Parts: sequence; C-alpha cells; structure tokens
Amino acid sequence: MTSVSIPIPRADLLVAGAGAAGMMAALVAAHHGAAVLLLERDPDGPSNLMVSGGLFPGAGTRYQAQAGIADDPDRFAGDAHTKAGGAVDPPVLAAIAAQSASAVHFLADIANLPIKLLASLSVPGHSAPRLHATPAESGRELHALLRAAVSACSLIHRVDGAEAIELLTEPTPSSAAGAPRIHGLRARVCGQSWDFAAPAVLLATGGFAANQELLAEYLPEMKGALHIGAGPNDGRAISLGRALGADLGFMRGYQGQGHVNPPEGRTRLGMSLPPLGAFLVNRDGRRFVAEDIGPSELAAFVLAQPGGVALEVFDARIHASASTQGPYREAFEAGKIHVAQSPADLAHCFDIPLKTFEETFARFGAAAAKGHDPEWGRKRFGLALVAPLYAAWVTGALAHTQGGLRVDANARVLRSDGSVIKGLYAAGGAAASISGVGGAGYLPGNGLAQSFGLAMLASQHVAALAGKASLHAHAR
Ligand SMILES: Cc1cc2nc3c(=O)[nH]c(=O)nc-3n(C[C@H](O)[C@H](O)[C@H](O)COP(=O)(O)OP(=O)(O)OC[C@H]3O[C@@H](n4cnc5c(N)ncnc54)[C@H](O)[C@@H]3O)c2cc1C
Repeated sequence: MTSVSIPIPRADLLVAGAGAAGMMAALVAAHHGAAVLLLERDPDGPSNLMVSGGLFPGAGTRYQAQAGIADDPDRFAGDAHTKAGGAVDPPVLAAIAAQSASAVHFLADIANLPIKLLASLSVPGHSAPRLHATPAESGRELHALLRAAVSACSLIHRVDGAEAIELLTEPTPSSAAGAPRIHGLRARVCGQSWDFAAPAVLLATGGFAANQELLAEYLPEMKGALHIGAGPNDGRAISLGRALGADLGFMRGYQGQGHVNPPEGRTRLGMSLPPLGAFLVNRDGRRFVAEDIGPSELAAFVLAQPGGVALEVFDARIHASASTQGPYREAFEAGKIHVAQSPADLAHCFDIPLKTFEETFARFGAAAAKGHDPEWGRKRFGLALVAPLYAAWVTGALAHTQGGLRVDANARVLRSDGSVIKGLYAAGGAAASISGVGGAGYLPGNGLAQSFGLAMLASQHVAALAGKASLHAHAR
C-alpha cells in the first residue's frame, strides 16, 4: 500500500480513537489552545464508552461538597490501592486520582455536560460516594454528549474512518542512538494509507479483550469467555507501541462483570442491586457467594456455578431504584427481568427446586434481619425483600482489559528501562491501568477514571510543550 500525505492543518496533538479517552484528550488539549487531529476508525461503530454504565469517579468535587460528602484524591487513591491489593504504580495512581475532580468539573464547566453525583449509590470498595454521571446514567448518553462537545470545538479536526496502523518516527534517529521520536501516525482511510504529521500522538484505541492471542498470553482464564465490550479492542495500541520498544504493564488485570444476562450478554443488571438487598442462587436454589463483593470479582463465582449462571432475586423497591440506570433499563426493556408473586411462583417460573429455594429465601431473610451472614460473610443487606419478587438469570463475562502500554504520571509511554518514547502518549484501554492483576483488583469506575485522568495529563503535557496556556483552574 502506498502512503499519501494529507493536506490538513498541522496539529499539536494527534489522537487515535474517539472513545472515552480520545474525546476527553481532544477537548482538554483544544481548551489549552492546541490544535488536535482526532482519528476514529468507525464513527458509527460501538465503543466501550457507549456500552458502559457511564459512571465516573471524582474525588473532591463541588457536587460532593454540596451533598456534604468529605472526599479527596488521597482517599480515592487509597481505595483503589486497597482494591488492587497494592499492585499499582503509585505515582500514576496518585496523578489519576488528582485529576478526577478536575475531569468532572471540566466536563460540567468547559464541555457543558449536565453532571450529577450519585450520592446514594453504595459502590463496593469506595469509602465515599464519588461516582458521577450524566442524567440518564448511561454510556450512550455520555458518548453522545462528548461527541457533540467535540463537534462544537473548532480546534478539533476529526478524521472519521481512519484506522491507525503505524506510528511514524523521525527518519533518522538523531536524539540518542536507537531512540527516535514520534512525528506522526499512518492510518488507513478508504483503503489507502495516509500519513498525518504531529509532534505528539496519543493512543486511545482501547484494550485487547477481543484479541484471542493476547488473551491466551496474558489472561488465559478469560480466553473464550463471553466478552461484553464493544468496538475493536484488538490490542492495536500494544502492537504499535511494542514496535517502538514500549513496555507493557498490568497485563493480567481486567474487569469482569457478574450481572450479565445470558446467553448473548447484550444486557446486564448493573452493580447496584446487591447492596440494596438482592441475592443470588444457582440452579440448585442455593446461595454461593457474598453477593455484595464487587461486580468484577463476582463474575468468576457465577461462572463456577452449574451452567455458569445464577438467578439474581430482588423486589419492586430495588427495581424502582435501579431503573435510574441505563444498563438496567435496557435489560428490563429487553424482557430479561421477570416478576413472580411469591417465592414458590418464582421457583416454578425459573425451574428451580422449590423446597431448596424456599429454605434459601428464608435463611437469607433471617441473615438480612440480623445483619449477619454466617454462611457467606455478606456485609450489606439493604431492606428485607417483599413480594412480588423480580428475578433475572445472570452470568459472568469479560468487560474490558486493564493492562496496556506502561506510562508515567504524564501519560507518556515508557520503555522497559524507564525512558520515555518522546512524543508518544497512551490513555484508556490502551494504557496500563490502576486495577492490579486478575478481576478482583478493579474498583468500579476505574475504567473512566483512568481514561479521563490520563487523557487530561497527556493533553496538559502536550499543551505545555507546545507553549500553550496552562490549564485554567475550574471553579468548584
Ligand atoms: C460493559 C461495560 C461497562 C462499563 N461501565 C463502566 C462504568 O460505568 N464506569 C467506568 O468507569 N468504566 C466503565 N467501563 C469501562 C470504560 O468503558 C472504558 O474504560 C473506557 O471506555 C475506555 O476508553 P477508551 O477510550 O480506551 O476505549 P473506547 O471508549 O472503547 O474507545 C476506543 C475508540 O477507539 C476506536 N479505535 C479502535 N481502534 C482504532 C484504530 N486502530 N484507529 C482509530 N480508532 C480506533 C474505537 O472505534 C473507539 O471509538 C465499562 C466497560 C464495559 C465494557
């Protein structure tokens, strides 16, 4: 394939991928006065941002202050550190946590997104309510609002249908032997190869959850698992970075999802049901886990049950509460949730052994009343369930990977000797995250926290190098 130089304005920053990290980076860089080229392979295609719950953490936001919630970046970093069992890069985690409130304020004040705090949502692992969202609490809405903000920004030049295929470096490595610097990116556009020049490139092309080879190498336990992420997730950033000697980090980290509706996994119930009082039984009618552990680690417990499924049982009060959330509404509208008038009706409806289910229901009710679960060690019970009962089958799935290109606290991509690849940045699924190894290290909201945080850090760094204005402080 021959390559062609495209006659478009020279950019200060080229961003590959217009998902969560890419759009945030483009908006922040443009806000600093930097000219941005934003390349997206498939503007009409799905992305992880679109299918996400659209919930993002902010520690120390004005929304929290208005609700009387004390929080700060150190506390958030402490929660993420604990959840990951200490398997994090502390300076990177601290930098991301420190950006979280600014990200929320930037979206509200500069990108003009309507933002709210989910003050009453109890989220496993977070010691303070800090998840924020747009009104519909849905990734689709967040995606649409970010895209509208990008379209309204004259400093962002979008190139749709452009697939990043190769990083361009200075023809002759002049700086240090073997250490070329980035000077652009080659993309496939309409079957042709185009070269886009820029002194800095941010890789925001997502993770590798759909790349079976990388899964086999790093996450063998997830190879062949139901994958509910969307978009390519083909590990492109990893192959592009590796070609220049980039190091990889936390490749064994991922987010599982234990509330996914089988068999196709297109809908899910979301993580809010157990803290409100929902419980899970397997096909034999027995409980098997403390249901209030996080949704990520729950996935493996559900998959270990007969048929790899479980029945999530709740009531009308929980249904009403969860209905504010986009993913839950989609599951309900898809007919995944059924209503039964009594425990016996429910057992009949789902073909579960009646006697065992009735015993389990009574034992769970007694544990909830005492606030003590000797069998499974559950800690949060919510209110007692009241008929009619609501229920849906759930299974475990791989949502998105958490490993990727190792970066520093400015989101610059690193080699294994710790040196930076000059001009190359990564954020979102493309970059190593803050979730340790395995599925248990993922604190809900880590995905967007890292995507937005590293995107902001990269754009601020690029803008500063380009001599653009430094970030304005956002009013609280
Ligand atoms: C089911 C599910 C629920 C989730 N819920 C939440 C949540 O509530 N809160 C949270 O914090 N996180 C959540 N996440 C995680 C969150 O969605 C991701 O962390 C985040 O979207 C990652 O951002 P990204 O920009 O890396 O990837 P994406 O948002 O997937 O965007 C990547 C973009 O890059 C484009 N692209 C890919 N390859 C190329 C290429 N070669 N050239 C050009 N463009 C390319 C894609 O088309 C896509 O538009 C969830 C994830 C899933 C799967």
